[in-house]
Amino acid sequence: LIDPGYIRDRIRTVADWPIAGVQFRDITPLLQDPKTFRVLVDCFVHRYMDMNVDVVAGVDARGFILGAVVAYELNRGFVPVRKKGKLPFHTVAEEYELEYGSATVELHSDAIVPGQRVLLIDDLVATGGTMIAAAKLIRKLGGEVFEAAAIVDLPELGGSKLVREQGIPLFTVCDFS
Ligand code: IMP
Repeated sequence: LIDPGYIRDRIRTVADWPIAGVQFRDITPLLQDPKTFRVLVDCFVHRYMDMNVDVVAGVDARGFILGAVVAYELNRGFVPVRKKGKLPFHTVAEEYELEYGSATVELHSDAIVPGQRVLLIDDLVATGGTMIAAAKLIRKLGGEVFEAAAIVDLPELGGSKLVREQGIPLFTVCDFS
């Protein structure tokens, strides 16, 4: 329905951020312009509106912006996958490796009801570590990751392949090589 180039052309690339050598793909211009924001949200709403999704999970922090709006438009609830130490109630946690060190994501233990079909949303897939850890949390609680979805894939980093190898269907709007 929507030309992926429309979204891709409006993503800003910032060289050497957060560290030298990294080309950071900045999605904030997509949110700032009202028409582009609507087109972006519609990429996801049109894909999932006739699918049997029970709940939307969004990944801290840009996955909250997109995930919450998509959930609202689909008339579904939203649950946040948060970085360690932010959720007040009982949690399940999943640690994953970063290039240097590790990170942990958490989900409230009652965020997912066993058997629920979960749409998992983040802004971007790089190494895939974040998306896979979030999917593992959903599975720990007995949920099914119906699909993982992001605006951007960086296929050369191999993350999208790893996500799919975990048996997680993945949808992305555009990619950067
Ligand atoms: P991964 O775990 O290596 O796949 O990294 C993906 C996570 O890091 C996502 O939550 C992204 O928000 C963030 N991230 C990594 N690289 C970028 C980028 O170039 N632009 C925006 N977010 C990024």
